[in-house]
Amino acid sequence: MSSTEQGRAHGGNRLLDRVLAATPPEDSPVRHVEHLPRRPARHGEWPEWASERLVTALRSKGTERPWTHQVQAAELAHRGDNVVIATGTASGKSLAYQLPVLSHLDGDGRATALYLAPTKALGADQLRSITELDLSGVRPATYDGDTPDTERDWVRAHSRWVFSNPDMLHHGILPRHSRWSRFFRNLSYVIVDECHTYRGVFGSHIALLLRRLRRIAEHYGARPVFVLASATVAEPAELGSTLTGRTCRAVTEDGSPRGDRTVALWEPPLLEEVTGENGAPIRRSAGAETARIISDLVIESARCLAFVRSRAGAELAALGARRSLEEVAPRLARGVAAYRGGYLPEQRRELERELLSGDLRALATTNALELGVDISGLDAVVVAGYPGTLASLWQQAGRAGRESEGALVVFVARDDPLDTYLVNNPGAVFDRPVEATVLDPGNPHVLRPHLACAAAELPLDERALHEFGGETARENVAVLTGDGRLRARRNGWYWTDRQRPHHSVELRGSGGEPTAVVESDSGRLLGTVDQESAHGLVHPGAVYLHQGESFVVDELDLDEGIALVHAEDPEWNTSPREETDIAVLRTLRRHRTPNGLSTNLGEVEVTSRVTGYLRRLPSGEVLDQRPLDLPERRLATRAVWYSLDEELLTSSAPGGAGLDPARVPGALHAAEHAAIGLLPLFATCDRWDIGGVSTALHSDTGEATVFVHDGHPGGAGFADRGFAALFPWLAATREAIIACDCSAGCPSCVQSPKCGNGNEPLDKAGAIAILDVVLAELADAPTS
Ligand SMILES: [Zn+2]
Ligand SMILES: [Zn+2]
Repeated sequence: MSSTEQGRAHGGNRLLDRVLAATPPEDSPVRHVEHLPRRPARHGEWPEWASERLVTALRSKGTERPWTHQVQAAELAHRGDNVVIATGTASGKSLAYQLPVLSHLDGDGRATALYLAPTKALGADQLRSITELDLSGVRPATYDGDTPDTERDWVRAHSRWVFSNPDMLHHGILPRHSRWSRFFRNLSYVIVDECHTYRGVFGSHIALLLRRLRRIAEHYGARPVFVLASATVAEPAELGSTLTGRTCRAVTEDGSPRGDRTVALWEPPLLEEVTGENGAPIRRSAGAETARIISDLVIESARCLAFVRSRAGAELAALGARRSLEEVAPRLARGVAAYRGGYLPEQRRELERELLSGDLRALATTNALELGVDISGLDAVVVAGYPGTLASLWQQAGRAGRESEGALVVFVARDDPLDTYLVNNPGAVFDRPVEATVLDPGNPHVLRPHLACAAAELPLDERALHEFGGETARENVAVLTGDGRLRARRNGWYWTDRQRPHHSVELRGSGGEPTAVVESDSGRLLGTVDQESAHGLVHPGAVYLHQGESFVVDELDLDEGIALVHAEDPEWNTSPREETDIAVLRTLRRHRTPNGLSTNLGEVEVTSRVTGYLRRLPSGEVLDQRPLDLPERRLATRAVWYSLDEELLTSSAPGGAGLDPARVPGALHAAEHAAIGLLPLFATCDRWDIGGVSTALHSDTGEATVFVHDGHPGGAGFADRGFAALFPWLAATREAIIACDCSAGCPSCVQSPKCGNGNEPLDKAGAIAILDVVLAELADAPTS
């Protein structure tokens, strides 16, 4: 091995050694180190049909030849196939659609294209790169909420490549499609960027929005080709097809080069002197560990990026790193910054430029999507807290990777059962395929309002019903007709109201107007809280944190959707107490083992009421519990549940859990919490997208039961995923509990930050006993 090759292979290792230099090996927080080898570039040729002008422009910008996946995707799109390109970060997905789109726009002076991105920043980046190619006649332009009225007319009349987002398409473009007739008549391509972000309820909304878009385009005689760009996800072709309603081909073989990388899985140590809720041990926070890792990396002259889950966390990580650098190398402290959303595009690019040039050494940020696509090739990336999906983890990690020297990626676990599981089970990070993206455009709670919007755009006919899901669409149209919102005529269904239905559809929310949090004195709007969370977060007396400032809620007006607050920083914090009941409405799938384990999927109604709140000191000491008088909330959704025969729970014979009846509630509760924490490993949801109920005797099942339910009306497909993956899901749940080295339960295993019962009772050992029994029963059972 030559010395340069050695340098290559060990660049990331060397950085990791430096970070760990001060830690005795027996105290090492590193649970696993994986070496990912480099991948050489594979080039293709410019397609013959590619516009010469375009190829010249791309060459002058530094792209001598395209990579194989870019050519493959471009060829498919050029010949009219809908295509989804799912390759890694910095693999040049933009070029894959720029080639066919710009070649076509260059060859046909009337043709138009639409680009949709989930964030404005991303759209702005793409627009900039097209503008820089300087192809006359394309007239690329943004059309979003910030576009001034005067410019809007120009865009509608002249732009041939419009850069927008789903929100604008929904609220601004489709409802007034007749003003866009030129654009729609000539619509040749629709680009859907970062399409893996369209998951769950949001994804279902986007899928229906794209069906509406297709319908309007077809009305004007156009059949655009869809090109979707995605992070590496499982089943990308299915994702593309579900999103667009048209068969999509997938391109997944990444031809871009990548330097080798060292990936370390890092579990922060338990703190000895501090305890948390119910005396549980606490780990050093992922943010504090990240600050430490960043400062060590900066000392090594590495350029690094840290992804932290919350904005406040990113600020704290940057601040922590600066503080420790000030002690050892004050000159370097200035090289660490936090990246906030809300920067102007120029400020953002300035920061990015500084990071790439090395003027800035480390940047802590919340979200990969807010960052420009050019930020890649860094020496190190620190991911503090699992970002929810492996796809996102690899997308963030993909920002690291120097072609010549090798790079370091550190994944730091937060105190959460899923993170615990991942750092202790490297196979779940390195050997597992990335997740499929889950969405369900058939969810009637999402479908119905989109049918209303579609009817308001153009009357619905039989063909439209077919496109929107056939029978399900027909049933929902019947409901809308029964409500008097649609009127059936001979040739279809018409929207009858003067007011368009679009404003009441919240693409990014779970439905219902969000509650506004307003400072009484100044009238200042501090933020919004979605309707579901308002009872728990902004009830009277709640301490509400906003960008590091503390407020106390005086009044929650549920009818008006306003919470009035005043600035106050009391010494306590508050946590709501909530009572939750669940009723089985319909069992859709059911399996029972001979020994008495039932597993089920079905429709449920969850009834919950915030009954009071605890005031607690930072030490965890409870000052008092105060009652609240808030109304009940009902949620009709889907759930997966299992229930156990009493004998199976209490018997100490082999095959039984051997639990004393008094331990059963705590054991079920702990098993429920951990299962909620682990479901995101199998369904692309967040722990906050789902909920759970456990009870030693449930009236509908007549047995001890653990429910895990979707948190959105009608469900978003998460419970279904859980049912389909029940065995691996519960096996991982058990693993996560066992892997945690606390004795009686902590936030890294069975405690939950959203527990309405103050994490009581919880029985960690009991949960393991129950899961042992459940898994043994499932392993014996014939798979259904
Ligand atoms: Zn624990
Ligand atoms: Zn709980």
